[in-house]
Amino acid sequence: RSIGRLVVVSNRVPVPNASGAPAAGGLAVALQAALRSRGGVWFGWSGKSAQDAADRQPQTRSLGPITFAVSDLTRRDIEEYYHGFANRALWPICHYRLDLANISERDAAGYFRVNEFFARRLVKLLRPDDIIWIHDYHMIPLAGFLRELGAANRIGYFHHIPWPSPDTASALPCYDRILESFSAYDVVGFQTVPDADNFRDCLIQSAAGRVGADGVCEAHGRKFLVDAFPISIDPDSFALEARLAERNAVVKRMRVSLEGRAMVIGVDRLDYSKGIKHRLEAFAAFLENNPDAVKARVTMLQITPKSRSEVPEYARIQREVAEEVGHLNGKLGDIDWTPLRYINKPMSQAALAGLYRLARVGLVTPLRDGMNLVAKEYVAAQDPNDPGVLVLSQYAGAAQELKSALIVNPYDIEATAAAIARAVAMPLEERIDRWRDMMSALRGNSIDHWTNKCLQAISGEVEAEGESS
Ligand code: UDP
Repeated sequence: RSIGRLVVVSNRVPVPNASGAPAAGGLAVALQAALRSRGGVWFGWSGKSAQDAADRQPQTRSLGPITFAVSDLTRRDIEEYYHGFANRALWPICHYRLDLANISERDAAGYFRVNEFFARRLVKLLRPDDIIWIHDYHMIPLAGFLRELGAANRIGYFHHIPWPSPDTASALPCYDRILESFSAYDVVGFQTVPDADNFRDCLIQSAAGRVGADGVCEAHGRKFLVDAFPISIDPDSFALEARLAERNAVVKRMRVSLEGRAMVIGVDRLDYSKGIKHRLEAFAAFLENNPDAVKARVTMLQITPKSRSEVPEYARIQREVAEEVGHLNGKLGDIDWTPLRYINKPMSQAALAGLYRLARVGLVTPLRDGMNLVAKEYVAAQDPNDPGVLVLSQYAGAAQELKSALIVNPYDIEATAAAIARAVAMPLEERIDRWRDMMSALRGNSIDHWTNKCLQAISGEVEAEGESS
């Protein structure tokens, strides 16, 4: 049978600039490769605001077989759908932070309204044999609206962030309506098996549906597959990038300035889910507990680009982290040593790759994270003959695969401090053994593998093959 086009939907769309430069970032690259091979459309928000609703013109740009189609949103749309419901309700609740959730009927209404608006725009671009792949929590209700408008296409959804257990998930505003929205899909993908299990538990406990042994769920008169599809990176091309980055100017400057001291690295968007404050405290406790590390002037580099600064909870964490860095450097530093180097702006991935490779310890300790690609990038970037050690939170999705990391409870400051000490002192042989294990886990599930598995499931190829054999 003929292969239909692929239609990718995500809140933000990496529309190429005038020179046609392709988007950076592993996911964007992988999705564009899939779009190029089948032909297709990438649809979403332009990232810009329109004066009023009538002004939200659709904009398209084609690059070979790919059409990028985006729409502006009004300021009110952006406030309610994006800053409000997506970032202040769905995000904190899916990250188990009920204390930070902002429950607002107005935002919830805006969320559904904008999804309906997107559905009306998107349905005009669809062909009957297109397969549709919708990404992330901004767009959960989209398939339901597409179905109401008559779309009979195969539609898949991938949830990039965690899905919590039923008692936490049920704090979501419009919980029942959101759960029901999932039944409009043919495939619902999560990052990990525990996330997929939590989701099935939600269906069962809310009496919204039934779950078959094969992971197929039935709810509101539709059957859909629920499964784990852990996202990844391309480990070999990242390794190459890290090797080449030894010549990168930023990396060279860092190496020179370290003067041979061991480096610990942390890289995260400035987000309360990343556990940055706990991590800084753990690094301070490591120094306080290990006079040798102070003598050796072990140095931590924390790269933390600002994120979602318009949202009050983010403005607060930004202040708190900066204060903590100042406090700890004042307490622990010396006239010629700044134990914590804190960078509040984004770095290119090339520079990051080289910095990871320079670091003896990768400290990845989110309080909760869907996957955490930084953990995977850190592993891929290491020198196979002298690899560094990954210290990884048990609450990162990546911990389901990277079992040879030093796994820690990020809330346990002393245990995390002890893991840093163990990582700094770890003999070469053990470092190599652990690194090989993790690298082979990454090679067994690269980003291309992930894309193919998701697309096979969405297009129903897996079932079709089963039927014919
Ligand atoms: N990243 C980057 N520059 C920075 C910080 C991060 O390019 O200054 C990239 C990083 O290499 C990784 C991504 O941003 O690919 C972060 O992904 P992750 O899954 O770790 O966290 P998220 O930000 O999606 O929650």
